[in-house]
Amino acid sequence: MNFQGQTALITGAGRGIGKIIALSLAASGADIVLVDMNPEMDDVQKEIENLGCKCLAFQADVTDFEAIDSMVKNILEEMGAIHILVNNAGITQDNLFLRMKPEQWSKVIDVNLNGVFNVTKAVVRSMVKQRSGTIINISSVVGFSGNPGQVNYSSTKSALVGFTKSLAREVGARGVTVNAVAPGFIDTAMTQALNESQQQTILQQIPLGRMGDADDIANAVTFLASKEASYITGTILHVNGGMY
Ligand code: NAD
Repeated sequence: MNFQGQTALITGAGRGIGKIIALSLAASGADIVLVDMNPEMDDVQKEIENLGCKCLAFQADVTDFEAIDSMVKNILEEMGAIHILVNNAGITQDNLFLRMKPEQWSKVIDVNLNGVFNVTKAVVRSMVKQRSGTIINISSVVGFSGNPGQVNYSSTKSALVGFTKSLAREVGARGVTVNAVAPGFIDTAMTQALNESQQQTILQQIPLGRMGDADDIANAVTFLASKEASYITGTILHVNGGMY
């Protein structure tokens, strides 16, 4: 797969899955725009530049529509175009539904769903204009299976399925594809927050007998972003070791 001459914007790219997606696309020649709320992106930026790719980093909160819109205008001026958008930024605020506070519900919806709206809204017009582009949303296995303690999180991740499929139908005729990857349990800070017994329970549900690593997700995203996948749109690629 070759992304030479293409620019990829990845949200939540400062660490975890987003960081590995950025490195994977750069390893195949893409120029990269890292976006993260956390300003510590220097190391990732250096790693990408060492691969010989251009890399910009923006500290931005995906929930801030105005800030995202003006950031995307700057990116388009600096890079000329955005060819690949990966909506990866996401959070959890787990609690059993009976104990879930309205703020826990709203915050997760705001980042995981409104954030995807904001960034996509800012980017998609330029893709439609250039008659090419690909958008990949990071959903989750729990958006399909459900998970106790994650009514808020799993709601956002299933909402991304409707978002992906509907937008794919709207922009397909303009040469833009929209897909999602639904990771299973992946070894990152998000899942390291689970206690030993929760991790054991999860492992028992995974036929391949291990948690995934960020590379497993980055490989799927890199494939969907490539021209080899240009006839795929509106689909959800499950990467979960067989657990669902
Ligand atoms: P992570 O917590 O390690 O990284 C998330 C990144 O997003 C962080 O760098 C964080 O600063 C950034 N971020 C959070 N809120 C933001 C905001 N408002 N604006 C901009 N950036 C923000 O998480 P991860 O495990 O790498 O998860 C990445 C994506 O994959 C998320 O959407 C998550 O829901 C999804 N996912 C993860 C797993 C898993 O097992 N780790 C499973 C399924 C889906």
